[in-house]
Parts: sequence; structure tokens; C-alpha cells
Amino acid sequence: MEKIIFATGNQGKMREIRSILSDINVEVLSMAEAGIEAEIEENGTSFEENALMKARAIAARLSDQDVVVLADDSGLEVDYLNKEPGIYSARYMGEDTSYEIKNKNIIDRLKGVPKEKRSARFVCAIAAVFANGEDCVVRETIEGYIGFEPAGENGFGYDPIFYVDQYDCSTAQLSMEIKNQLSHRGKALRAMREKLAHR
Ligand code: IMP
Repeated sequence: MEKIIFATGNQGKMREIRSILSDINVEVLSMAEAGIEAEIEENGTSFEENALMKARAIAARLSDQDVVVLADDSGLEVDYLNKEPGIYSARYMGEDTSYEIKNKNIIDRLKGVPKEKRSARFVCAIAAVFANGEDCVVRETIEGYIGFEPAGENGFGYDPIFYVDQYDCSTAQLSMEIKNQLSHRGKALRAMREKLAHR
């Protein structure tokens, strides 16, 4: 494999990905760095399906090159809300609605619900499509619960309301280093690194 292209335009994700894949000796490029512009629809029914669709769509454009295309899909599942927002996490209450509003809405929907029924998890699926057309998908989670109020300034999205017992705080209160050790994306990237290292 000559290069890895990660199907994201998110610089934060690219930093995380480069740091976790740094010990595999391959260049890792974002879509923009690979000169690809694409808005890919995520209309699958699971995180795995969405990740694979994105990776396949980009790989189809690079079929003449010896590259591995990676793509991820992630989100928050709240058990009390029948696993909402799930694969719709980015689109929950509308793509342009602020996370301050989305987070407040989730806390309001859990009003009066005790801690033991507030369980939730972040999920991350990462798909790889190889130059010979083969593919594989990994899925990892971080378990936690929805807090009673938002807290913390780090991270993004639903981090201020997602609490982990181990540190007794929200993932927005963790350093990036600790979050990467625990997180769904960190774990999925390390699982994918193992798969890539053995090819
Ligand atoms: P995507 O994987 O880029 O499609 O984004 C999924 C959505 O899930 C994000 O926009 C966030 O709302 C949410 N999400 C995924 N991972 C995290 C996380 O680590 N912290 C907070 N929110 C997350």
C-alpha cells in the first residue's frame, strides 16, 4: 500500500488519525490533500454501512491508484431514547442547530430519569477499502451516561453531556490525550491500525 486516504474534511479527526497511525510507515492524506472533493450521502442504516459507503465512494474515484481508503461514521446512542440520536447524531434537530441546543434538548428529554437509566455510548465504525476491492470494517464504543448538566470546554458535539464513570466527569472535561485513549474513535483507529499492519 502506497498511501492511506481518510475520507474526512475534519482537521481534528486528521490530527487524531495521523497520531494513531504514525507507527505504520505510510503517508496519510485527507480527501482535500488527495485532491478529492465530494459530498457523500450517508443513507445507510448502521454506522458500519455508512462508513463503508463513504469509503467505497472515494475508492471508486481512486481505482487507478495503490491506496487504501478509510472512512468513519460515529454518533451517540442514548438507551433511554431508544438509541437516539444514533446514526442521525450530526443531523439531530437539524445539521445547523447548535450543540448547546441539542445537548440541552437531550438533557430535557431525560428529566427525572435516574442515573442508572441514563446509560449511553459513543460508537465509531471505520471502514477500509483496499486497492484490490477488498474491504473491512471495525466498530468500537465508549460506555458512559448522560449527565444532569453540560460541563467542560474540550472536545466537540455531545462531549459536554457524555459522562464517564472512570473519571467522574464529561468527555469535554478530559484532555485530548486521555479522551483518545478511551474513546470510540481512538479504539476503532487502533483496531484498524492492527488490520493495516497485518496486510
Ligand atoms: P460523523 O462521524 O462525522 O458523521 O459525526 C457524527 C456526529 O456524532 C458528530 O457530529 C457528533 O455530533 C457526534 N459525535 C461523534 N463522536 C463524538 C465525540 O467524540 N464527541 C462528541 N460528539 C461526537
